[in-house]
Amino acid sequence: MARTLIANGTVVTATDQVSADVLIADEKVVALATPGSHDWSADQTIDASGKYVIPGGIDVHTHMELPFGGTFASDTFETGSRAAAWGGTTTIVDFAVQAKGQGVMEGFETWMEKAAGNCAIDYGFHMIVGDVNEQSLKEMDAVMGEGVTSFKLFMAYPGVFYSNDGEIFRAMQKASEIGATIMMHAENGIAIDVLVEQALQRGETDPVNHGLVRKSILEGEATHRAIKLAELAGSPLYIVHMSALEALEEVTIARDQGLDVFAETCPQYLFLGLDDLGNGFEGAKYVASPPLRDWEAGHQEELWRGLRSNDLQAVSTDHCPFCMDEFDGLIAQKRLGEGDFSKIPNGMPGVEPRLELMYEGGVAQGRISLNRWVEICSTAPAKMFGLYPQKGAVAPGSDADIVIFDPNKSRVISVDNQHMRVDYSAYEGTEVSGSVDTVLSRGRVVVANGEYHGETGHGRYLPRGHNQYVL
Ligand SMILES: [Zn+2]
Repeated sequence: MARTLIANGTVVTATDQVSADVLIADEKVVALATPGSHDWSADQTIDASGKYVIPGGIDVHTHMELPFGGTFASDTFETGSRAAAWGGTTTIVDFAVQAKGQGVMEGFETWMEKAAGNCAIDYGFHMIVGDVNEQSLKEMDAVMGEGVTSFKLFMAYPGVFYSNDGEIFRAMQKASEIGATIMMHAENGIAIDVLVEQALQRGETDPVNHGLVRKSILEGEATHRAIKLAELAGSPLYIVHMSALEALEEVTIARDQGLDVFAETCPQYLFLGLDDLGNGFEGAKYVASPPLRDWEAGHQEELWRGLRSNDLQAVSTDHCPFCMDEFDGLIAQKRLGEGDFSKIPNGMPGVEPRLELMYEGGVAQGRISLNRWVEICSTAPAKMFGLYPQKGAVAPGSDADIVIFDPNKSRVISVDNQHMRVDYSAYEGTEVSGSVDTVLSRGRVVVANGEYHGETGHGRYLPRGHNQYVL
């Protein structure tokens, strides 16, 4: 057995902060002990003095290689999972897609093939059900058997991923029956499409209009509708990438009523705003759905409040990068929407800087505690999607997915030092006061001393269990 000792660090979990040495044997954590209280020997010792030892980040919302708007998200499973590792994320849960006219199982198998042998870190899948029908509902059982316990539906994107209320309700009834969680993209896409058409007719074609037509009230309305349908069907509901205070209000009410309603937000909705979309076509870099919100209205601070109070349970990235200009053999993807904002591929890069951004905006700037930072970035996502305590913990028996985080090593986020396969950073020039130092995936050092030691294909598929917040 290969033994690794992480010595003299401060182990920080969702609940504790203790001085402890961590002993790893092969792929698992096997013991924790007070420094100096043991005589453990190891093949390699990593000194973590002055640093935090935390469970590896878990990003439960990524879209590697996603087909969208006539092109594909620029990160492959290989490049995207490597970038995740660089940023201290050791598990991703990506989205397999059932396209219209295709089978659910067929979609799952297609995505399994894309990922197989290509990931640097462990990975699981949610299933996007893009065509709710009798056959799809039956096949939800079959993919559950493969360890896919969450199904995503869209109230947005009519003609692509959109499901109407009846389809949503049927899928929720099925989820309720089989113990799955429904994930919802909650924006009223039908009303949004009317506003898009009207804006284009007025000649308003710049990227900023993407943010102007996708009204926050329409995110609130869709969130309310999703909650009521889920309540009636009896299924757990997880609202993805929440950006609007109107939506948070609905989730807060539902949770106060004791419903199994959960939600995540993403760093872009906390750190960026509508003004980022307003800089001519440069704003295309910031086109994602839901859109970045107006600072004046206070969405960002409300989302921070929600994270603090547990009205929001997790922070993921919705990582879905598209290049602005030709890059690494890719076309100028964002420029597909020059002259028509509705044709800009929706999505932003983000899988790499999540932990550091959340440390900076959350812990360093005094909005959330150190424990809460670990909880929203790792432990809660693990519990929400049935991976705990294999993931999301530093405890005997857990996978040795560990990040050593240096709270005193600042760095500046830039396209010049990132590893995502995309030609810009949405956070260019942002200084973070702490940074990722060393990353282990199942006991293997993948990042250390500013160097990558990982291996394509090291990552394994993770069959997942039920939502552990649902009793
Ligand atoms: Zn998404």
